[in-house]
Amino acid sequence: MSVWDDVIGQEAAVTTLSRAVTDPDAMTHAWLLTGPPGSGRSVAAKAFAAALQCPDGGCGTCRECRTALEGTHADVDIIATEGLTLKVDLARDLVQLAARRPSVGRWRVIIIEDADRLHERAADALLKALEEPVARTVWILCAPSLEDVIITIRSRSRHVRLRTPPVEAVAALLVRRDGIDPAMATFAARAAQSHVGLALRLARDEGARNRRREVIALAAKIRSVGDAVGAAADLDLIAKDEAVAASNERDSTERARLLETLGADPGARTQPPHVRAQVSALEREQKTRATRFTRDVIDRSLMDLISIYRDAMVMHSGAPIGLVNQDMADQVRQLVGVLSPEQLLGCLDAIGTARERIDANVAPLLALEAMAISLQLPR
Ligand SMILES: [Zn+2]
Repeated sequence: MSVWDDVIGQEAAVTTLSRAVTDPDAMTHAWLLTGPPGSGRSVAAKAFAAALQCPDGGCGTCRECRTALEGTHADVDIIATEGLTLKVDLARDLVQLAARRPSVGRWRVIIIEDADRLHERAADALLKALEEPVARTVWILCAPSLEDVIITIRSRSRHVRLRTPPVEAVAALLVRRDGIDPAMATFAARAAQSHVGLALRLARDEGARNRRREVIALAAKIRSVGDAVGAAADLDLIAKDEAVAASNERDSTERARLLETLGADPGARTQPPHVRAQVSALEREQKTRATRFTRDVIDRSLMDLISIYRDAMVMHSGAPIGLVNQDMADQVRQLVGVLSPEQLLGCLDAIGTARERIDANVAPLLALEAMAISLQLPR
């Protein structure tokens, strides 16, 4: 067993990181791990942290390894944001933390899971720490790609690239780590296009499988502008439903905990001003989180939609490549019957444009409508 067991399909990255653990010349104080969503950036970052803390370089079983992997090690801090940006106050706190010696471990490790969400001023604050390394402190920054990270940060850290793991490796992980049935694991890994977290959700949650099927089925249904507007509304609604389902319970727990901390009566009709102020600050934060979550869900739906047009391209070409949507081969065949490869490319472009526009803060429903209108099937 080793801490690297769950870092699947990343031989080159694992070689680089594990060499840094054993060879001081191969070590540096700031690392930047990049890789597409679902490639396992945070899993790799935690494994690296564990290997650095472990007396045996990452045995995977000792206390140091286990706590670092679980995220409870006293000298491993994991920063994940659910808001849209990482704020400057947080960055200043981290810089102070970085100056302190490790309390129990061999290193102080600070993992920032969304370095692409560093606010510009936050990045400036961090830069100072990256420019003046502290002997036993290591920064591990994660982001989708180099281009997502502010250049000054990029130039002061060592880059390690993760790739999309092969479907077979993702399926094998779900079987071994999560006890998923092999046939389901293979289906989920393929349908999730090797996104590990998504594959696990598809494997475990029938609702998620149904939502995915509904999204993909939309492709073969859009025959008029009316259908297009309806399809866009459906996509938007599916995402909002999922966001509500994911956040309701958590939002009210947070609110109850805040009231308790402030010594306020949760049943009171009106709260004193200082309580009201804190509650509305929390509500703003929750709203931001819901917005981000909804956008992430829409983006994932669009990735699902892309997969069926890609499958249709593959079927057109006759190349001996497995379909992502093997379970929906009938719908793929239907698209192949009515759309030429050029028209399929046009559809892929339209979906790509919608993703870019939503990423640039265009209201999702508007971007989705424009996209769906371009996806109309010829009559
Ligand atoms: Zn260990």
